[in-house]
Amino acid sequence: MVNPNYKAELVGVFGHPVAENPTVVMQEAAFQALNLNWRYLTIEVLPEDLGAAMQGLRAFQMRGINLTIPHKVEVLKYLDVVKPDAALMGAVNTVVRKDDLLIGENTDGKGFMRALVQDAHVDPKGTSVVILGAGGAARAITVELALAGARQISIVNRSEDRGKALCELLNEKTPVQADYIPWVDAYKIPQDTDILINATSIGLYPNVDQKPEIEYDSLREGMVVCDVIPTSNTLFLTEAEKHGAKIISGLGMLVYQGAIGFTLWTGLEAPVESMYRALLDTFNTNA
Ligand code: NDP
Repeated sequence: MVNPNYKAELVGVFGHPVAENPTVVMQEAAFQALNLNWRYLTIEVLPEDLGAAMQGLRAFQMRGINLTIPHKVEVLKYLDVVKPDAALMGAVNTVVRKDDLLIGENTDGKGFMRALVQDAHVDPKGTSVVILGAGGAARAITVELALAGARQISIVNRSEDRGKALCELLNEKTPVQADYIPWVDAYKIPQDTDILINATSIGLYPNVDQKPEIEYDSLREGMVVCDVIPTSNTLFLTEAEKHGAKIISGLGMLVYQGAIGFTLWTGLEAPVESMYRALLDTFNTNA
């Protein structure tokens, strides 16, 4: 007779607010698809409780955790090891517990790269990139693009301090040439741009009728235009497609960053199709 084992392996996410984070849907779908007795818990953690929560991760012998707003930077002080690209970004979204060690990774930019390179067949080497925004998503994406050989990155951002800080980070720590452009009026996209990315929260539900302020007539056929907002039909992408651009939604980035996390935790290849379908179902149900 086989000894019974009623203990599930635990992972999850710490955030505040966290209730609208959909990651549980795709991770639980992945566990079911591979018949794993694992659980993904969506856990509200106040900023002042992050240290205790990380201690809890050890106490409960959880296998790992995702971090979302506002914990991605603060968590660094509770980790034993931080992987080089996450250290460059100064942000961690995935922690893996290996025995006593808490290891920090950032899968956001890697998820974006997989959607760009693997699905859309775009080679970032030697490209000229314009990114709207300079927050956590923009940091993760631009560091990975720079490490993958992008030639030039223009950071267009409303607040100067964040825009300049990201620009300095890229110029000092990666081989890319970066510049900061203040975002005042509708931004005209330079004609030699290969890849344009919206990495702001403009267009995020419920503000689905909003789009970033750019001169849409400056988009040209063949430009690759990407959004981080994880729905397939943002106004930004709809407009870009009308102007002949090749578009990439944020859904692929979301699924792949989760798939990379799944593999880091379980050591298994992620059932990407099941994760993708589960997310689409939940987005369609809640639309
Ligand atoms: P942050 O709060 O770190 O950054 C937000 C950025 O958006 C800042 O650059 C901010 O500019 C800019 N911004 C917000 N509103 C406006 C506006 N009205 N006009 C101009 N700029 C604006 O957020 P994150 O970077 O963590 O997240 C950004 C988006 O990316 C979110 O919608 C998030 O859901 C999405 N995301 C998607 C992922 C995916 O897998 N698809 C993964 C991670 C994030 P300023 O500096 O001037 O305030």
